[in-house]
Amino acid sequence: MDLLEYQGKQLFARHGLKVSSGEAVGTVEQAVQAAQRIGYPVVLKAQVLTGGRGKAGGVKLAADEAQVREHAASILGMNIRGHVVHTLWVERASDIASEYYAAVLLDRAAKLPLVMFSTEGGVDIEDVARSHPEKLVREHVDPLEGLSREQARRIAVAGGADADVLDGVAGALVALYEVWTREDATLAEINPLIVTPERDVRALDAKVSLDGNALFRHPENRELSDPENEDELERRASQEGLQYVKLDGDIGILGNGAGLVMSTLDVVAQAGGSPANFLDAGGGSDARKISQAVELILANDAVKAVLFNIFGGITRGDEVAKGLITAFRQIKPSVPFVVRLDGTNDVEGRRLLAEANLPNVHTARTMDEAARAVVALAAGHGVGAPG
Ligand code: GDP
Ligand code: MN
Repeated sequence: MDLLEYQGKQLFARHGLKVSSGEAVGTVEQAVQAAQRIGYPVVLKAQVLTGGRGKAGGVKLAADEAQVREHAASILGMNIRGHVVHTLWVERASDIASEYYAAVLLDRAAKLPLVMFSTEGGVDIEDVARSHPEKLVREHVDPLEGLSREQARRIAVAGGADADVLDGVAGALVALYEVWTREDATLAEINPLIVTPERDVRALDAKVSLDGNALFRHPENRELSDPENEDELERRASQEGLQYVKLDGDIGILGNGAGLVMSTLDVVAQAGGSPANFLDAGGGSDARKISQAVELILANDAVKAVLFNIFGGITRGDEVAKGLITAFRQIKPSVPFVVRLDGTNDVEGRRLLAEANLPNVHTARTMDEAARAVVALAAGHGVGAPG
């Protein structure tokens, strides 16, 4: 999961890495107001998930309101290599004495964290690596020891950082390493890491990728994914910890377990139906979670009928049925549901569902039967109708 520059900077700040303060805005007016609060001169920066924004005209200094208007208007809506700019980061402009480069990533071949540092920052680091490899210091870190201040300082010395900022650079490297480990990042890169005329060391840019599989350890980082690039429902689902995928048909597919959901898609397609989406509600019988799943499936107007395919395993069918009944009593679905319940305690589960006599909810015993029923219902036929 790649973060926008300003989101990366938020993580940096959380771990004591110096960044300039600023505001993320979406309109020219907001940019003007933000600049007034921040104080001139400011820098306006396109927030898109691609580098080289400066060269593309997506990073501009503004000394007054007229320049903010001019540059904000040109950057917002700009297309940078296929990425349309919706968000602008307005930051207090920095004076720059030197531009360095720093990064922490995983060296998969060595199976170790790798710190990279160079005093040749602000440019494409691949060029430096190619033309002056000696100017790019690469050092592994013992993951159990972590990056010590001493090692960070040695790296700064080896890279040729100015003597009076060795402590500042070492501090930045240690903080960057903290970001990388503590936030479960796969990449944390600063280009440029600047030295100001006052000899302050600060991150002027941020490129951070987080390990999506570790997000459960960082619920506060979930909202950092780029909402402009995601389907609204997929985003809501991931916030709830549910796997939701949007498709183009008219039948909603719900199941407990990824494999079951996949085979349900196939069976519905075989029965002549076309799935509108699918959602893995995961294990468990929590009525709240089932309600959320049902709500998400129904949030797509294209859905004409829903197949909820449940296999009782560790989670018993009667427990799932109770969760379903509670959920359906709350939601009162407006489109027909077919619930196929099989596995542990399935007879009991189907009996509970039948007794609850929920409007718009049909039960089925096998997947084929359920698929045929849901296809008929989506087409506006009764469950018993042929084909
Ligand atoms: P990138 O082109 O996408 O990597 O965007 P950066 O955030 O790295 O900005 C590109 C370049 O713009 C930097 O290398 C700097 O030279 C310049 N720049 C960015 N912010 C400032 C600033 O506050 N002051 C000055 N003087 N230059 C800046
Ligand atoms: Mn950069």
